[in-house]
Amino acid sequence: MSSTTREWQALDRAHYLHPFTDHQALGEEGSRVITRAEGVYIHDSEGRRLLDGMAGLWCVNLGYGRRELAEVAAEQLRELPYYNSFFKTTHPPAVRLAEKLCALAPDHVNRVFFTGSGSEANDTALRMVRHYWALKGKPRKQVVIARDNAYHGSTVAGMSLGGMAPMQGQGGPGVPGIVHVPQPYWFGEGRERTPAAFGRECAAALEAKILELGEENVAAFIAEPVQGAGGAIIPPDSYWPEVRAVLARYDILLVVDEVICGFGRLGEWFGSQHYGLQPDLMPIAKGLSSGYLPIGGVLVSDRVAETLIEAGGEFFHGFTYSGHPVCAAVALKNLELLEAEGVVERVRDDLGPYLAERWTRLATHPLVGEARSLGLIGALELVADKASGRRFDKALAVGNLCRDLSLEAGLVMRSVGDTLIISPPLVITRDQIDELVTRARRALDEAARRLT
Ligand code: PLP
Repeated sequence: MSSTTREWQALDRAHYLHPFTDHQALGEEGSRVITRAEGVYIHDSEGRRLLDGMAGLWCVNLGYGRRELAEVAAEQLRELPYYNSFFKTTHPPAVRLAEKLCALAPDHVNRVFFTGSGSEANDTALRMVRHYWALKGKPRKQVVIARDNAYHGSTVAGMSLGGMAPMQGQGGPGVPGIVHVPQPYWFGEGRERTPAAFGRECAAALEAKILELGEENVAAFIAEPVQGAGGAIIPPDSYWPEVRAVLARYDILLVVDEVICGFGRLGEWFGSQHYGLQPDLMPIAKGLSSGYLPIGGVLVSDRVAETLIEAGGEFFHGFTYSGHPVCAAVALKNLELLEAEGVVERVRDDLGPYLAERWTRLATHPLVGEARSLGLIGALELVADKASGRRFDKALAVGNLCRDLSLEAGLVMRSVGDTLIISPPLVITRDQIDELVTRARRALDEAARRLT
């Protein structure tokens, strides 16, 4: 290891408290130091090149190193580096981005509220749905139903909406008035039933929860189209149509968290379009700027926006960086490039089906109980026994082992327990998909060798 790398690692260890990191577990090894990137590849300080199978944190949809985005940022920094849009003020980058987003969104969505991140977007959605019902004269409609093992961010509201037990076990109580229902995770929780029956069962659990709470107390249901951080959980085909039918029976808002699925991940601009959903609110972030600058937002349906506007009065909510001009200018350019280059259509018509065909071949591997993908998101379920689907002893941390071996094989994958996940940049080529699958297989082979 070079002395520069060692120096960075020492400074890192001394001063940097990282997100989602067990600092003791860094041990002697220290952090990996990433210094540059281009296309679908990242480079570390030791000169190693890795295929980034995670698009950073599910966000670098357009790939790394796009000069057009850097140039737009530099230009905007010179022109107007900052101004806010509070108190009857606006500026061109935010207005243009709002217009573009609403043109891409489903027809019933014509307004956007900007935030700095996905967590802030979900905080905003929570306050907005509760405020909406208060304006409607139904202030008792306050409870939000979310799902177990969902991820909606790390702010207090994001954590509370999320259903991640380890997060909820830290940092004290969350926001009251949020309850959780089962997730449609067939491989993990439903294998005694058919996927279709399990999908219906999860939708029925949502309905049972609504009846238990009383429709008059429920403000909204929030969910990701495909759960990302929970383990790239693609719901059974029966799930969303049944959930739609349940929600149609009651007057409850639907919040679809598009932070991962938005901007092409599932082969449509929004995951909602893939599943034919008509959300009332759509929190967005990540792929909005391909991660180049921090920006998020909530796409707001006419139903909600008209109430917020027509009822009059101020919604006392906003962030210093809502619609930040530089972030907005970069996000707009990102959307224009995704559109001009036909990236979303290519995911739907070519790369998604191609990945599915290659990725599902990994299902024959002795360690793999299921290989699934949709668009450019995929997962492998690792099992000790293929026939029964029995999992490995948790203490073996086989998911982490495979993730580490994958890095050794030159591929960034993520592990969630014994589920391995990919979510590569949407500009990946067919050849690079082949490379990704070859490297994943190499990691699995080495893990199998070590485990026997
Ligand atoms: N919602 C979903 C579905 C996410 O995956 C994430 C982040 O991974 C968030 C919200 C939170 O976004 P951020 O990290 O930008 O606050």
